[in-house]
Amino acid sequence: MSEIKLIYSKTDGCCHLCGKKHRLSDYAITWQREHHIPRANGGGDHVRNLFVACIKCNLIKGTLPSKVVRKWMGLNQVPLSRKAKLRIRQEQESNNTGIFLLILFLLMLFGMYQQKLQEQQQNKLT
Ligand SMILES: [Zn+2]
Repeated sequence: MSEIKLIYSKTDGCCHLCGKKHRLSDYAITWQREHHIPRANGGGDHVRNLFVACIKCNLIKGTLPSKVVRKWMGLNQVPLSRKAKLRIRQEQESNNTGIFLLILFLLMLFGMYQQKLQEQQQNKLT
């Protein structure tokens, strides 16, 4: 995978400062590689330190910490990768299935309880 694709996939193409989604093909047009730790502050050119950022956001950031700029932009956390989003969705679906099965089980118990009550009432009548 090319370095640009790797950087893009880290946030699923979302600017790590404002959250705006970009197309991979718009590299150097609407977005660019942004140094999380600025080079001026000793940040390197390794993929670990590079993120997707709108050209405008990158200009605003300058040498400020990403966290500060993100807060200004109203973003509370770093955008997730596609893989992380998928994992969270799968966890939620699995939780929903668990809750559904629990409700089904409780309804069955309730049905059995009512049946038992009816049987007891019929026994009392006879
Ligand atoms: Zn942005």
